[in-house]
Amino acid sequence: MIPGPVEFDPEVMRALGAKTASHVAPEFITVFGRALKRLREVCLAPSAQPFVVSGSGTLAMELAVANLVEPGERALVVNTGYFSDRMALLLTRYGAEVTQVRCAPGEAPDVAAVESALAGGRFKVMTVTHVDTSTGVLAPVEPLVRAAGRHGVLSVVDGVCATAGETFHQDAWGADVYLTASQKAIGVPPGLALLTVSPRAMAAWRARKTPVRSLYADLGEWLPIMEAYEAGRPSYFATPAVNLVCALDVSLGQILREGMEARFTRHRRMAKAFRAAWRALGLKTLPVSESVTAHTLSALYYPEGVDAGVIARVREQGVVLAGGLHPELKTRYFRVGHMNVVGPGDVLASVGAVERALVAAGHRSEPGVAVAAAQAELLRAG
Ligand code: PMP
Repeated sequence: MIPGPVEFDPEVMRALGAKTASHVAPEFITVFGRALKRLREVCLAPSAQPFVVSGSGTLAMELAVANLVEPGERALVVNTGYFSDRMALLLTRYGAEVTQVRCAPGEAPDVAAVESALAGGRFKVMTVTHVDTSTGVLAPVEPLVRAAGRHGVLSVVDGVCATAGETFHQDAWGADVYLTASQKAIGVPPGLALLTVSPRAMAAWRARKTPVRSLYADLGEWLPIMEAYEAGRPSYFATPAVNLVCALDVSLGQILREGMEARFTRHRRMAKAFRAAWRALGLKTLPVSESVTAHTLSALYYPEGVDAGVIARVREQGVVLAGGLHPELKTRYFRVGHMNVVGPGDVLASVGAVERALVAAGHRSEPGVAVAAAQAELLRAG
């Protein structure tokens, strides 16, 4: 129950363990082409160009930055924590002039502050982390990308801890790049960087005056490959992670069978049940209010008298949690991921394990209150 890699469906794991096809075999071309079409559907981005490249989420971030900014261009980073810092670092590395709108850990970005920065900034791109994995904060992505659109600024949304878990309508909201990785709510072991890129962002990439500095991260190398796979033709630039792509196709198929709205709703319901349990245990969340709290993970302060040692106690109960990540607060909180195949059984088992470990660590709480609170919420959710 960490915020990635998560638990994966057995059917997905079987695809990973199957005999590896040639990357130009007709059956693999069919699978890759279908996975690209499915990625477009999962991101609700019928007009976007999908990219699937071997690498982790950081490569997805790098693909966005390397292709959209040229040295000296201006970028606005809406900074909610650890991964926004990484985005700023990448932008700087690629020569952008970076301005940041920051918020305190646990707070969501202020749309009005971003809007006023956009108004005077002559920015080429704005980046925002959909769910900040270091704080558990859900950014108000829809108003932010709409604001960027109004100011003619390209929006790049880091969905690594959100895609296929948090509501997102790329085309309807006008987001230019949605980037993600395989190992979270997408439901595939680590190793794939995924992006869906709007026609506007593709046009901005085509209008570049300078070549992309990284060969592997150049969309110019990958675009003909993605187009060929979708058109059912063999093509080669760099060997794709064949088995991961097969696993991706299976997982995206499962996601679409569940339906995007049903999937977003399930993530919201499970998050609500977790929140009811945390409240019953008297735990304080890092996000400052319910409205800015992600549905894909919980970030919780250790209660009085309890420290990071409790994570090992929870592990003894059979549940794996993650420690803190935000540099300012790292030792003061822990994280529980609830993505992908998460259901009521996972909620009750995890809450039960946390409850037992906290009580054993000396936290004062009536045994069973957290499980009862989660159960009541699950019953309410139907
Ligand atoms: N962005 C966010 C929001 C993330 O949570 C992560 C990874 N946890 C990354 C980017 C980087 O992804 P990776 O570790 O796969 O490189």
